[in-house]
Amino acid sequence: MSKADKKFTRLLILVFFLVLTATVFGCRSRKKSARIDSGMRTVMGTVARVVVVADDTETVKLAIENAMAELHRTDGLMSDYNDASELSRVNAEAFNKPVVVGAELFSVLSEAVEYSKKTNGAFDVTVGPMVDLWREAAAMNVTPDANKITATAARVGYDKLLLDAEKSTVRFAVKGMRLDLGGIAKGWGIDRAIDAMRAAGAKGGMVDVGGDIRCFAERGHTEIWRIGLQDPRHVDDSGNSCLLVLKLVNDAVATSGDYRRFAYIEGKKYSHIIDVKKAHGTDKLSSVTVIAPIAIQADALATAVSVMGSDKGIELIESIKGVEAILIDENAKITMTSGADEFIEKK
Ligand code: AMP
Ligand code: MG
Repeated sequence: MSKADKKFTRLLILVFFLVLTATVFGCRSRKKSARIDSGMRTVMGTVARVVVVADDTETVKLAIENAMAELHRTDGLMSDYNDASELSRVNAEAFNKPVVVGAELFSVLSEAVEYSKKTNGAFDVTVGPMVDLWREAAAMNVTPDANKITATAARVGYDKLLLDAEKSTVRFAVKGMRLDLGGIAKGWGIDRAIDAMRAAGAKGGMVDVGGDIRCFAERGHTEIWRIGLQDPRHVDDSGNSCLLVLKLVNDAVATSGDYRRFAYIEGKKYSHIIDVKKAHGTDKLSSVTVIAPIAIQADALATAVSVMGSDKGIELIESIKGVEAILIDENAKITMTSGADEFIEKK
């Protein structure tokens, strides 16, 4: 893809995320404290918002800037739109030789492989070549032929990603591989932003990156964050199209879905989330929301369950302690895990 194409795609993605962002209605606090909302800022190819609660305004401001700085740092490590990112260096060189990477990128890649194993390959950060194939197909409005799909599939698969923990290196087993951290990087960055907020002295806060959110509240500063979950059938940005409202305290939530980011190719709708085994966009669920203790887990699992579909997805999430999911299919049928109801505000 040319630089101009990449820029254009990035712009499109920004527009999509602008409208995807979940509505955060606010919070209630028991103690008197300072609270500032950063407002929307552009980072990681999307929009991000940070709200911090602390004992004084100085601390709040410091915590906001430190949290935002972590999101920019995440972009510098993991963006595939930035040729200078550590990830882009891996993508450019890892077939020719093992590439030494920093501890953070190595740990995200290791975690990504763990999610691939846990989800039987539904989550797979080696999906890059397939993302490119379908992006190109959407731009041309031509469904890729079987030969192209087979050739692309040969360059995808987490078993072809060779990680050496001792040397902290990444290597590709096959030429033409490309890592795409779009399904997990937001979650990782949100967790780092929350760490930075806490380190700066925040007592509570919320980080929202493109609709993936994590909230925290320390003892004695019990904030309850109310997060609106978009109705995929009625997509508007007024905040009036919420299907339900989630109440979170020390939780993360991520939503993956095809209702905002999809393409029509020769009249057929394709999601931006790829089922690697079928080699095309998923078509089972309109939206998957996962609630988990940390954002990386919510982010990766929401993407994975979008691929797995309702039955297998629910079974997986039920097997993971402390994690819940709310699934909405193309007929607006809602399926939830057994503990999800506890997070839903009653009318
Ligand atoms: P999310 O919005 O978190 O579900 O992430 C979707 C993004 O993850 C896509 O735009 C791709 O960049 C990437 N992606 C697509 N399919 C997969 C997959 N099967 N596993 C991991 N990442 C994927
Ligand atoms: Mg995700």
